[in-house]
Amino acid sequence: VSAPGEFEIIARYFTRRNDRADVLLGVGDDAAVLECPGQRKLVVAMDTIVEGVHFPKDTDAADIGYRALAVNLSDLAAMGAEPAWMTLSLSLPGSDSTWLQGFASGLFELADRHGVALVGGDTVRGPLVVTVQIAGLVEPDAWLTRAGAKPGDLVFVSGVPGEAAAGLELIQRNAVQGDAARHLRQRFLRPEPRVGLGRELRSVASAAMDVSDGLLVDLRKLCAASGCGMQLNVDALPQSAPMLQLMPAAECIEHALAGGDDYEIIFTVPASRAQRVRDLRSAPCTQIGAIVAGDAVLCSRGGAPFEPRRRGYDHFEQGPGSP
Ligand SMILES: [Mg+2]
Repeated sequence: VSAPGEFEIIARYFTRRNDRADVLLGVGDDAAVLECPGQRKLVVAMDTIVEGVHFPKDTDAADIGYRALAVNLSDLAAMGAEPAWMTLSLSLPGSDSTWLQGFASGLFELADRHGVALVGGDTVRGPLVVTVQIAGLVEPDAWLTRAGAKPGDLVFVSGVPGEAAAGLELIQRNAVQGDAARHLRQRFLRPEPRVGLGRELRSVASAAMDVSDGLLVDLRKLCAASGCGMQLNVDALPQSAPMLQLMPAAECIEHALAGGDDYEIIFTVPASRAQRVRDLRSAPCTQIGAIVAGDAVLCSRGGAPFEPRRRGYDHFEQGPGSP
């Protein structure tokens, strides 16, 4: 099979039957034409993943396709939006049919689960870089931001932060045998964007954000946006049985606080609405602290101040190759 050119790549791997009535014109023309319904607002986000920076070299093509969309869906989840459309920019070192087939299968597996239509994109030759732009819809005045937290609010996180970072470490050490390691590896390769939870939080949370760079770093961003501080109780962090099975407890805590790539949601809830967190059906959520006055995010463990060894991921502090 000869290597497909750009036109063939789009026709063969990225043109599909359109299931969304609001896509008036999709892939194949110069631009897409989309129907925005009634009063709902358009919510747009974009995320790029780069080989060797955001995922290791030799990551399976299907996992890359899945992940490129998952990180974007996570941003829409954090806004309380319902995903609708995406565009894709693909920079590829070469045009390899098997790779493209795998990539498209991972991408569309997740897209179909969330009813997202691919409506356009671009392919170029270059290093392996995948950019997805996602667009979704949210009801008027119902979107979530990082800025609404107030002193006294309770702080929650969904899922089990740290497992993805532990999974990446195991992949890099080539130590992915056994059930626990496989579970952690999947948590890195196939994060579950919390779209359903984000929708539920529209009427519950005072502020929300997704965790991509690390729990502590991202909590600091939320607090900075809200103009407040936080007290985080390390003892309250969700425990990961697979992580505890494979690494010392202190290492698990470091991963939970500083490891990135979780794509869980951190959110704050006024104490008067705390009861409603128990009724959330989309994801397990754990209270890990409370919002306080000031601007410091402080950790405590066993009632004493706790200083984590590592900070989270900073896109420009670390060089490529240290995800
Ligand atoms: Mg985000």
